[in-house]
Amino acid sequence: MASHIVGYPRMGPKRELKFALDFGVLFLMSFYIFLLQLGIETVPVLIGPVSYLLLSKPAKGVEKSFSLLSLIDKILPVYKEVIAELKAAGATWVQFDEPTLVLDLGSHQLQAFTHAYSELESTLSGLQVLVETYFADVTAEAYKTLTSLNGVSGFGFDLIRGTKSLDLIKGGFPSGKLLFAGVVDGRNIWANDLTSSLHILQALEAIVGKDKVVVSTSCSLLHTAVDLVNETKLDKELKSWLAFAAQKVLEVNALAKALVGQKDEAFFSSNATAHASRKSSPRVTNEAVQKAAAALKGSDHRRATNVSARLDAQQKKLNLPLLPTTTIGSFPQTMDLRRVRREYKAKKISEDDYVNSIKEEISKVVKIQEELDIDVLVHGEPERNDMVEYFGEQLSGFAFTVNGWVQSYGSRCVKPPIIYGDVSRPKAMTVFWSSIAQSMTKRPMKGMLTGPVTILNWSFVRNDQPRHETCYQIALAIKDEVEDLEKAGITVIQIDEAALREGLPLRKSEQAFYLDWAVHSFRITNCGVQDTTQIHTHMCYSNFNDIIHSIIDMDADVITIENSRSDEKLLSVFREGVKYGAGIGPGVYDIHSPRIPSTEEIADRINKMLAVLESNILWVNPDCGLKTRKYSEVKPALSNMVAAAKLIRTQLASAK
Ligand code: GLN
Ligand code: ZN
Repeated sequence: MASHIVGYPRMGPKRELKFALDFGVLFLMSFYIFLLQLGIETVPVLIGPVSYLLLSKPAKGVEKSFSLLSLIDKILPVYKEVIAELKAAGATWVQFDEPTLVLDLGSHQLQAFTHAYSELESTLSGLQVLVETYFADVTAEAYKTLTSLNGVSGFGFDLIRGTKSLDLIKGGFPSGKLLFAGVVDGRNIWANDLTSSLHILQALEAIVGKDKVVVSTSCSLLHTAVDLVNETKLDKELKSWLAFAAQKVLEVNALAKALVGQKDEAFFSSNATAHASRKSSPRVTNEAVQKAAAALKGSDHRRATNVSARLDAQQKKLNLPLLPTTTIGSFPQTMDLRRVRREYKAKKISEDDYVNSIKEEISKVVKIQEELDIDVLVHGEPERNDMVEYFGEQLSGFAFTVNGWVQSYGSRCVKPPIIYGDVSRPKAMTVFWSSIAQSMTKRPMKGMLTGPVTILNWSFVRNDQPRHETCYQIALAIKDEVEDLEKAGITVIQIDEAALREGLPLRKSEQAFYLDWAVHSFRITNCGVQDTTQIHTHMCYSNFNDIIHSIIDMDADVITIENSRSDEKLLSVFREGVKYGAGIGPGVYDIHSPRIPSTEEIADRINKMLAVLESNILWVNPDCGLKTRKYSEVKPALSNMVAAAKLIRTQLASAK
């Protein structure tokens, strides 16, 4: 085997594979045998036993001190059974994914790998065994443990995100074993630089020996789009720069052949031409943007006044009650609304008709909020399909696929934009709709933007410059938008950073750097506004205990944040004494469920928050946007939310 794919994409939005061992094994066995019957031999892939435990979560009620690794001897018999079944079915190879080997592991955890594979050794005999790692490099200790595992014939490394592993391999590789070299990026959509990959592979072969290098993708192809052939709207030049899963398989094979002296010169040369065109294309480079982004580096960007003085200035202008109520942005996306957007895109309805329909929708949403007596309103985002796509479509440097779906979670799929060039904002993106919405009410109407880090983390990002440089460019574009909204009279502006946490590198040594530029990018967007302009941000996940200081450092005036779905874990940060002086709205109910929370239940939640947070900084809002809910759920839920806020306001006033 000289070429190898770590895993394939899950096609179509509707497939869901559960990661539970029993279920997974059932699928694995039936697919494996099914394909074998067709005469196709595949490598069955199992999550390795140690990663299976390290990535599991203890059940509710289990003591915090309980070590999941202590279950290793309980699950190894299950692995033995599966391996025996695979062998009986005729398997010659088996792959164990052990992605946790790229984490910062202690000696106790590393020993678990040694123990597990020693235990499995006799069952594995007769099979070729690959242990695969991905998403980062491995530490020197993990490398030693991995390459000393018993019963293993090959080791896989992600050489795209884990270039430091190359040095470890150069420092020594067990003789006679196979090296699975992940040189084709499984997490991106860019064509491989075949010439440079071939050099790496040849250098590796010189170390590990002839026929001992297996060309591989860096990780499963689950994270990339399926096939470029399905893209009918991308132009030829841009397409030549890309490779989706189907094209990546060809790249892996071409590299494997080249390594044994059967180089397909035509394939390599068209790849080189594409690379050269990408490098020199005027579509990629915008000198002014490059200059402006470079000028940001090394300097700090903060609002001139501290947050408590800003909040005072804002309160004078906004005159909000205690425990102000608001929502996160989107209102239900009805079938009608989706139809209007679709028809407008397909040019089936005129611009005037489209604008009128959206205006009508905004007016409906404004009225509902006024009737509910919500304090800070939103326009409901009826003009947006997706919070990243909407902005990407209006920014330069972005391209869109028609079929580039990737699995997000469960059965959900997303179609990430492709950032191929320097990012700039040709014209205002949201001012038109926000101004219309503000003109419909006397109450403050929140401007609604997606933040630079979220746009970055939910896109396929160019790989010809560091991610932070691209992020700074997006930050500058959003900064212009923030300032245009302010000029248009919008006094509250929310900049969503739903995906900030998702970009966090796996290795501790790199986390501080990421958080530093991510938080800096956010601050760049709003460092230029007046004290009286209130900047909100929103985050969808609340496992923030470890990064709370970075959240504080974002220096937003108000943060609304998921809280109710995760057992109010967020509040424990404040219980442990972290001081948060800005406004904060931990979600009072879970919008992912159709259940309508009662007033008492929400009041109870607010009281729990008041036990750890000052009443003058607390906001009352749902966990996230309401776009996936129905009006029949949203209206009563928000009505109870406002009632709960009023109830507690009265209680607080009478307690004085
Ligand atoms: N403003 C967005 C909305 O309400 C935020 C979505 C999100 O946090 N994912 O839909
Ligand atoms: Zn959210």
